[in-house]
Amino acid sequence: MVETKRWNITKNGTNNEKMIIEAGDLLKVGEAVAFPTETVYGLGADATNHEAVSKIFQAKGRPQDNPLIAHVATKEQLFQLVKAVPSYVEELVDTFSPGPITYVLPSNGTCADNVTAGLTTVGVRIPSHPVALKLLKTCNIPIAAPSANLSGKPSPTTAVHVWEDLNGKIAGLVDAGPTGVGLESTVIDCTQDIPVILRPGGISKEELEEVVGKVMVDPALQSAEANEKPKAPGMKYKHYAPEVPMWLIDGGSEKMQITYNQLIAEGKRVGILANRNTLEKLNVEEKISLGESLEEVAANLYDGLRKFKQGDVDIILCDTYPEIGIGQAVMNRLRKAASRYIAE
Ligand code: AMP
Ligand code: MG
Repeated sequence: MVETKRWNITKNGTNNEKMIIEAGDLLKVGEAVAFPTETVYGLGADATNHEAVSKIFQAKGRPQDNPLIAHVATKEQLFQLVKAVPSYVEELVDTFSPGPITYVLPSNGTCADNVTAGLTTVGVRIPSHPVALKLLKTCNIPIAAPSANLSGKPSPTTAVHVWEDLNGKIAGLVDAGPTGVGLESTVIDCTQDIPVILRPGGISKEELEEVVGKVMVDPALQSAEANEKPKAPGMKYKHYAPEVPMWLIDGGSEKMQITYNQLIAEGKRVGILANRNTLEKLNVEEKISLGESLEEVAANLYDGLRKFKQGDVDIILCDTYPEIGIGQAVMNRLRKAASRYIAE
């Protein structure tokens, strides 16, 4: 058990300097510190320091074969971590970075080998959250940072989520309120002539294609059977699990209401996690609205998954979303979080 220092700062505040320097100093001496990004809270450590990076794996209980994303403040720093890259990478970086996109590129060995989990490639991202950028600029080292949750649980979109999972296990937490996008970055393999999406996220396939033309999707993400091995090692693990089982239900209210009524008749306590429009049509008691637009659903999803606690409900029913834009990432996470999928 260590004492976790917590700094409360405002997102664009001008008097945050001292706290960010303190957090940066802890990172520089090899400690693990959580901080906000525009996707989710990250748990950072010096990406060039093997021992510092191992503290991340330890605190999260993360499997050793799951590589971490290195975070940097500038395009120049990004290219300092990798070997020669295809020409489309520069176009992608100029268009989408800083932002919720991670480039998988051939590593030049600057990052410690536990960051890359022994792979020859490294995932690199420039976050756009002003606090993350300030922290990266202050310590001026690449920071390895996976989501700041216990492995397997929903990623943290507020400092309260981080505290719940990691208080006493990490040196510090920079609290700057809720994150923005609410889902993790798009991970894109840029080692071949055509880029491949390994994990859908904050930047959609359509947005990428507008810039570089054809973009492929790792076949393992689309296959219903789990026999394809995903190229992003992390995608094979069970993720984002709420405390109680969750069923995904296609097609809105009718099926949802029928399933709800059956479960209630069996004496179960049921929580509903759904779009505002779906909720309005339902006759249910325990419910959490994910908002209306796909962007709102993405931003509220992980908080919703964490809010239904064991002891309050026995099962969660959640509705499905169209797989367009950020909807691709929403459905990717929901499928991983759910224990059962009831199709129409
Ligand atoms: P997290 O940091 O928890 O958001 O997870 C990072 C995701 O990126 C995981 O699914 C990793 O497996 C994936 N990833 C990171 N680095 C690489 C890499 N070099 N090659 C393929 N996937 C990667
Ligand atoms: Mg994660």
